[in-house]
Amino acid sequence: MIKVGINGYGTIGKRVADAVAIQKDMKLIGVTSHSYSFNTEVAKLKGYKIFEAVKENDLRQNGIDPDGDLKSLLEEVDVIVDATPKKVGKENLEKYYKPNKVKATFQGGEKHSDIGISFVAQCNYNEAINKEYVRIVSCNTTGLCRTLNAVNQKYGILSVHATMIRRGADPGDIHHGPINAIVPVLEMPSHHGPDVQSVLHGVEIFTTALSVPSTLMHLHTITCDLKKNATVGEVIELFKNSTRIRVVRNAEHLRSTAEIMEFARDMGRLRGDMPEICVWQEAIGIISNAHNKLLYMQAVHQESDVIPENIDCIRAVMGFKDGQKSIEMTNNSMGIR
Ligand code: NAD
Repeated sequence: MIKVGINGYGTIGKRVADAVAIQKDMKLIGVTSHSYSFNTEVAKLKGYKIFEAVKENDLRQNGIDPDGDLKSLLEEVDVIVDATPKKVGKENLEKYYKPNKVKATFQGGEKHSDIGISFVAQCNYNEAINKEYVRIVSCNTTGLCRTLNAVNQKYGILSVHATMIRRGADPGDIHHGPINAIVPVLEMPSHHGPDVQSVLHGVEIFTTALSVPSTLMHLHTITCDLKKNATVGEVIELFKNSTRIRVVRNAEHLRSTAEIMEFARDMGRLRGDMPEICVWQEAIGIISNAHNKLLYMQAVHQESDVIPENIDCIRAVMGFKDGQKSIEMTNNSMGIR
């Protein structure tokens, strides 16, 4: 059994904790709480051990008797999953994980250069095997890597341009926005392209991004120049046969991000999550006269697509060598196609 701890119990951390708890080869030792909130109460309800992330927090005054502090959690685990806000992970690496000789996985808010290895299971599982520190890339980069990897393996990619229309905030977030504007990322091209290249080495990609008043999902529009001819029918089959990608159809009234998330709730997914990247069948197109240009659109559930990646990454850093098997184990446990 791989003993796992979670440091940073927010949007990502609480989902990773629940996913770890249902793996047959993992044991959730506990989660940290930085400050008291309803998340702490839910962790307690679920029977998770709660460790203080920092001294002098407000757990005891709210009736929670912690099971220890971060240091004592680190003494008990094989791997710590760091899901703290961006840049805190880098500080934790130097301050806690290296001195305590604990393997750690990080999230996309950390820089590739600070961690050294970036990860998407179906693209580069082997790179993370037995490593000390690995970063699971951001929700957007995970979404791009999953579908582009499938396209690259079958047709070879000459060049990609992708635009990311990003949700303004997560559903439970009252601090970010916009609530009535479209906000371009004034960085051209955006940083997402190099981030994709940290996983899909050598793929030429340029990205642009903007934020909109929505909380549900990101939407990507993608244009790829391919080395080989492709047909729409083949690309549909390619995506249908690729793990963690779901082809959705207007014909099923899955026209928008709102309907996709309603579908996830109706399927009874925990929290109504949709960890698969959803590609619209009717929005796959080929322009074959000048170049073999593939066009498609996909939706990314930012809160959940990285969760199965975290589970596979834990196995990889612990030396589990069969990436395909790990993906199957994770998918089966989480009901992912
Ligand atoms: P979040 O704010 O929802 O959760 C972070 C949690 O960490 C909070 O519970 C906070 O109380 C706690 N925390 C703060 N400082 C801490 C500290 N010093 N030690 C321990 N805990 C501390 O953030 P999130 O959205 O879960 O993001 C976490 C990471 O995941 C970031 O790197 C982010 O970029 C990445 N990520 C987020 C999303 C998303 O859409 N939310 C998607 C993919 C990746």
